Amino acid sequence: MTSVYGGEAAELLRVWSADLPAMLHEFVDGTYRTVPADTPLGEIVARLTPDQRTELIAREAAYLARVFSPEISEAEHRSAAHDAGRTHALVGVGPQTLTETYVQLQQRFHAIERTYPPEVAAPLSRILDLRILLDLSAQTATLGEISRSITIAITQIDAVLANTAGLDDLIRGTFAVLDGLDGIAAGLFLRADDRGELQVEASLGSGDRYHHAMEEGRIPKINLDPELSAGQGPGGRAWRSGEIVTANAWMNVGEGLPWRSAAEELGYRAAAAIPLVDSSGRTAALIMLYSGYPGFFATNRIGKFLGYLQQVLGRESALRIHAPVIPLRIRAAYRSLLREQRVAVLYQPLVDLRDGSVPKIEALARLLDENDELIPADAFIPALGEEDLFELTRSVLARACRDCRALERDGVVTSVSVNIPAHALGESRYRDTIFRALREHELEPRRLVLEVLETPLDTIDTAARTSIAAELRAAGIAVVQDDLGSAHSSLVRLDSYPFDGVKIDQTLVRGAREKPLRSLEFVLYLTRLVHALGALVTVEGLEDAALVEAAAILGADRGQGYGIAQPMPFSALPAWFGSYRYEVDVQSPRSALGALAGFLLWDLQLGELARWPNLAEQFVGADSLLERYAGRHARDDATLGRLIERNRIAALHGAHDARYRSTRSDIVRALRAHVHDGR
Ligand code: C2E
Ligand code: MG
Ligand code: MG
Repeated sequence: MTSVYGGEAAELLRVWSADLPAMLHEFVDGTYRTVPADTPLGEIVARLTPDQRTELIAREAAYLARVFSPEISEAEHRSAAHDAGRTHALVGVGPQTLTETYVQLQQRFHAIERTYPPEVAAPLSRILDLRILLDLSAQTATLGEISRSITIAITQIDAVLANTAGLDDLIRGTFAVLDGLDGIAAGLFLRADDRGELQVEASLGSGDRYHHAMEEGRIPKINLDPELSAGQGPGGRAWRSGEIVTANAWMNVGEGLPWRSAAEELGYRAAAAIPLVDSSGRTAALIMLYSGYPGFFATNRIGKFLGYLQQVLGRESALRIHAPVIPLRIRAAYRSLLREQRVAVLYQPLVDLRDGSVPKIEALARLLDENDELIPADAFIPALGEEDLFELTRSVLARACRDCRALERDGVVTSVSVNIPAHALGESRYRDTIFRALREHELEPRRLVLEVLETPLDTIDTAARTSIAAELRAAGIAVVQDDLGSAHSSLVRLDSYPFDGVKIDQTLVRGAREKPLRSLEFVLYLTRLVHALGALVTVEGLEDAALVEAAAILGADRGQGYGIAQPMPFSALPAWFGSYRYEVDVQSPRSALGALAGFLLWDLQLGELARWPNLAEQFVGADSLLERYAGRHARDDATLGRLIERNRIAALHGAHDARYRSTRSDIVRALRAHVHDGR
């Protein structure tokens, strides 16, 4: 078999090589003109300006003319195919598009071959077919290399995450990795100043020159204001929406407008804006990436990579912006304690605020240092990576299931809750670990509750999450949302995700001594909202008996906090269960906070009765929680007694009447003074 390059092959190809360039140009031109818009190739063509399209068609035709020319050697062909494959990969032409195009070209060739006598047509056909095959395989190999380079970049970024402590190092390390990634021409890391202008804090590639053009005023700085043209590009839109925005035809569509001069000079054809969102859903920083290839950021492969960057950098930078920096040395120490299984679990009981039963204990992890001192969760959990967190969860789950079952054997029947990171609901390894722990320790699934701490960044794979959550729930395992109110976005998400319960974050209750009205109102309204969605409410951080009483009066289902029990070792649980007495009487508050809670409820009910004046009159005349408090526990405060009488009369005018509004605030003020006095 003779070679398809040089010698005889070249002789044969010369038979028609004169007509070839024109024919190929016509073929490419036709392909690009008739490609349907909804195919990958169609999308690529749509991103080009008319000039770019003409140029691209000429380039592709010239490339093909070279591939099928008599002169090209095998080595030259391979190297040209490698380059072409790279360009194709970067603009988003995949193996499938390539193959389809070559099949059409092959048919075209066959039609022409048939016009030659068979002794020419047969060998010619063989040469052309083999060159097509070689071209396809060389280009596809390059596509594969580019995919692998992204996988490698992900591994390198993971290593950066694991080995850096500060935000600066994190960004610098990530940029060094991105700099080596084929197709990325430049990058910027930006944060907003107090005027809403984004300031560059780090750059990669030619990003420093682009930044320079901003500083010189040749192009505007990205702005957050949607009214300004500098706020309408991908950066401003991404910042405001919290979602990744790509501009795939930077020079073609209006997107690149105010930045066009510098972008054109530096050869940017596409841009991607990746907002880094903190746990309260606010954008804290922005990464801009630029490429010389139109459509570079539009491919599936790069799209997933951008999602990964947003997820890990967002989560990590939020932690690093807001949390105290944990030095590398200490991180490493925590990790090695974890590897040595120096994990302790404390349990904190939750009480049912309606009847005082103890439906659940929460398992809380600690690390044990060299001196057997406990390291608090807030200190070491932020230092753990995903793998460490998985190990920790596995260890806590096993311990919790075993201990809960042991309590049961001692006659104490309760459930146990374990904290899991929200992304765990999307990972089958977590599901498998959960079921294995239950099986191994023979605990019924309905005795396990999972507490999920949600951040906006954790909603990546909703489908996997929903299906795993459904499996867990089908088995009887409840899933509750932890720390509601610590992040605004969790409130938004409650509606779309079927939690069995939520825990109102302790920071909301912690202010109850200083700003009792605000804290109690929050608990009251959150409880109503959550009940309306059909879930149970637990209030965390009930630090004393007064807060426990107030939460019970406001209608919360369960309470947790030092006012009920401190977290304790397993060995202390039986004694606690034996001695705990729940002494709240929701009909008769003993504390000023409880009385205030009762008054807030009364006020709410008065408002609801506005449409039934007769009922309102009866309601106002009846005995109230506030009166019981004043009569039994605050008889020394005569002013409060008088205020209650005045308020009763004012209330007859309705909840919105100015006279009532005024006595209402007097009562709140009087009770607040009691709270401050520690009553
Ligand atoms: P969390 O799940 O909201 O747990 C409640 C935290 O509040 C616990 O802190 C508990 O000790 C503390 N606490 C309970 N009552 C009171 C109170 O009345 N006042 C105050 N100020 N605090 C109270 P801890 O154990 O330090 O845990 C902190 C956080 O660490 C937990 O918050 C949870 O998010 C996380 N965590 C703890 N153990 C694990 C674990 O095994 N896995 C995971 N993924 N996270 C865990
Ligand atoms: Mg929890
Ligand atoms: Mg919590």
